[in-house]
Amino acid sequence: MAAVPSSRNISIPVGILACQRDPLLKELETTVVTCSISQPESTPVGKKTKKAVIAPTLPKDPILEVILHDTVIFPEGGGQPTDTGLLTTSDGKTWTVLQAKRHGGHAVHYVQVPDVESALKVFTPGSIVTAKLGQADFERRYDHMSMHTSQHLLSALLETRLNLPTLSWSLTSFPSPCYVEVPRGMSTEEIRFIQSEANRLVFEGRRVHTEVEELDREKSKDPVVLESGRSIGKGLPSDYTGGVNRVVVIDGVDRNPCCGTHLPSIHNLQLFLIPHTDTMARSNTTSARLYFLCGPRLIEYLSSTHDFLTSTASNLSCGAPLVSDRVSQVVEERKKADKRVSDLELELAKYISTGLVSEAAAGSGTDGYIFKKHIHRTDDGGNPLAFLSAISVAFVEHMATTETSYLLVLTSVPSLQTSSTTTIVMVFGSDDKLVKFAGDALKSQLGIKGGGKGLKWSGKFVGVWKAKKEGELVDDILKSI
Ligand SMILES: [Zn+2]
Repeated sequence: MAAVPSSRNISIPVGILACQRDPLLKELETTVVTCSISQPESTPVGKKTKKAVIAPTLPKDPILEVILHDTVIFPEGGGQPTDTGLLTTSDGKTWTVLQAKRHGGHAVHYVQVPDVESALKVFTPGSIVTAKLGQADFERRYDHMSMHTSQHLLSALLETRLNLPTLSWSLTSFPSPCYVEVPRGMSTEEIRFIQSEANRLVFEGRRVHTEVEELDREKSKDPVVLESGRSIGKGLPSDYTGGVNRVVVIDGVDRNPCCGTHLPSIHNLQLFLIPHTDTMARSNTTSARLYFLCGPRLIEYLSSTHDFLTSTASNLSCGAPLVSDRVSQVVEERKKADKRVSDLELELAKYISTGLVSEAAAGSGTDGYIFKKHIHRTDDGGNPLAFLSAISVAFVEHMATTETSYLLVLTSVPSLQTSSTTTIVMVFGSDDKLVKFAGDALKSQLGIKGGGKGLKWSGKFVGVWKAKKEGELVDDILKSI
């Protein structure tokens, strides 16, 4: 067993901090060992740092880096994010600890200080401070502990019952489920089996404790590497200089090197596995993620899932158990309705084009006659361009047997217009020169963005389309031809 240094002038190494010896301790009187002004880290340009844990974003305020003799504020490590916390100095002032990080073997507290000068005066080496987890800080920590202990239990069961090593795991931000990554997907039966094995051990209330000994780097093993080249789990960080080897033990279930904080027993763990795995395909390997929840996240998940189900049931005017059937029915009805709308649109497009054909025929026979027409439609459908196209196709088909020249502009606008509304514009004609002339004029006079080839041109007008302005400009363009 590694000894805890008792001299208040030196800092206790990460591995045997108060938060690691007694994870339920919320407050501790201790002394300042060192204090310095924090220099913001610069990230090399172009280099992406892989961040597994969620670190808080630090404000622009000055920050002090404070090393204490001991602390209840856990510095990030072992996949577990940093704690947040509070420090109370001898003058009675309370300061916010934004995060704690391990530097070598020491826990460094990042303390937010509005005024550096006065802060440096109270954080002098040797001065007494109280480190504390406030209500919100402890809730955050309790959530992290619950998820972390769950991960140890889950990984141990996957390994021993199904021979599935944990490739990695992620303690995501609250309230998302966390996950372990395993080398292959799992069947629902396998997940149920692991779930009931976990429940059995939780019911027994197995004890969780830690064993700490002096670190012997020779003896500490590197992580096992699979044939695919992926390593299983993580070894001791190479920059760790704390000098202790810490093993977290779940009685009779698991022994795992870990620096995290853990629940003292699994009796209240309520581990829940989401009953499917997500396959992750990478360039040369595939793996799968198994998501899990427990404690505060499980309650949050159940509450939000219940709210979601209740509001959906209410929208569908049915009881919760009928939601799935009712949704299938609505989707089916919707498909039929969509089909009917598109059938009717096609029929309507033909009807409109027949009207246009007779209009065109009325004026034909005169030399140099061109049938010119602008049709403006209000349409809230999902695909107004398709409808305009249907009109043009039907019209062109009819006109193929006649000699009459024509040029048509079709526009379609939704019923509610704002400055960002798009009006669909389509031009088609019997002669590509006519179409090009109209397209160019629409571009230059109405600022319509668009283009086309041969006998068709289409574009978009953004803004409010007014009959008295844009509508009349289109008519003028047609008149000028
Ligand atoms: Zn761990």
